[in-house]
Amino acid sequence: MTLAEEIRERSGQDINSCYQCHKCSGGCPVTFVCDLPLSGLVRALQLGLRDVALASRLVWLCSGCRACFERCPNGIDGARVLDALKAMAKEADRVEDPQVAAFHDAFLGMVRRFGRAYELGMMAEYKLRTGTLTQDVPLGMKMMARRKLRLLPSLAPRRGDLGRLFREGVRYRKRQAGGDLA
Ligand code: SF4
Ligand code: SF4
Repeated sequence: MTLAEEIRERSGQDINSCYQCHKCSGGCPVTFVCDLPLSGLVRALQLGLRDVALASRLVWLCSGCRACFERCPNGIDGARVLDALKAMAKEADRVEDPQVAAFHDAFLGMVRRFGRAYELGMMAEYKLRTGTLTQDVPLGMKMMARRKLRLLPSLAPRRGDLGRLFREGVRYRKRQAGGDLA
């Protein structure tokens, strides 16, 4: 399977339809802090440059705003491509900054449990994972006093559906690795 086919299987996006018009990069709010614009990253994927793609800062700095999708004449959803690359980087143990990996895991852990983000729980888990538990306590107290942080999580009504999605993701990774599907 080529890298472009793998991306298509994981994200549903046909990156081979990209003809490098750069409209996505022109509207992307994080290009200025990235080593590669989205159009450059898509080109790297077309060329099978897995290492270049997995090492790109854009994978982790993408805000998920989907401006690229709105601008792309071929309907390529860059955020989905980058989500696939996040998963690939995690599976390949290629996340260079452990704090980034910890934040990603903490965020997804809350979504898996509650069906939506729970900021206080996410920050506690992130700080436990990174050994920085007391670092932002004064800021956290201020935010709680101003009701910017909820003490308890609010549960999404159909969080069971998300749980199924996560389980399907685990099964997919096992299939990819040739493991046991039971
Ligand atoms: S979704 Fe990500 S890649 Fe696309 S425009 Fe927004 S920040 Fe850039
Ligand atoms: S806007 Fe679409 S076609 Fe143009 S460079 Fe970006 S991904 Fe490729």
